[in-house]
Amino acid sequence: MNKLHGSLQKRELKFIVECNACVGKGMRLGIFHYLECEHCLGTGWVCGHTLQTLPLSDIVPVLNARLKDALGEIAKARHVIGGAQQQYEQNNRRGAGGSNYTGD
Ligand SMILES: [Zn+2]
Repeated sequence: MNKLHGSLQKRELKFIVECNACVGKGMRLGIFHYLECEHCLGTGWVCGHTLQTLPLSDIVPVLNARLKDALGEIAKARHVIGGAQQQYEQNNRRGAGGSNYTGD
């Protein structure tokens, strides 16, 4: 009996590492073309403890959490940079408008 099977409540995020069979690419070079890496099911990730294949349903939530963290960091960084850029653009516009004014 597996009590957790089919249950969606409180699924802990797995510890995952890059697949060593495909170096995290999710695919390997076959004879004629690239093949989906069978060790990581094409995800590029495996269990960080056992280095064994994990089902997508275990990997996706981890990547989802990491992506959201990363997007949050990027948004923060953009906010800082974007704020400075906006000031520059506003100053430039003002300067260009002033120089174009002939005032006759
Ligand atoms: Zn792989």
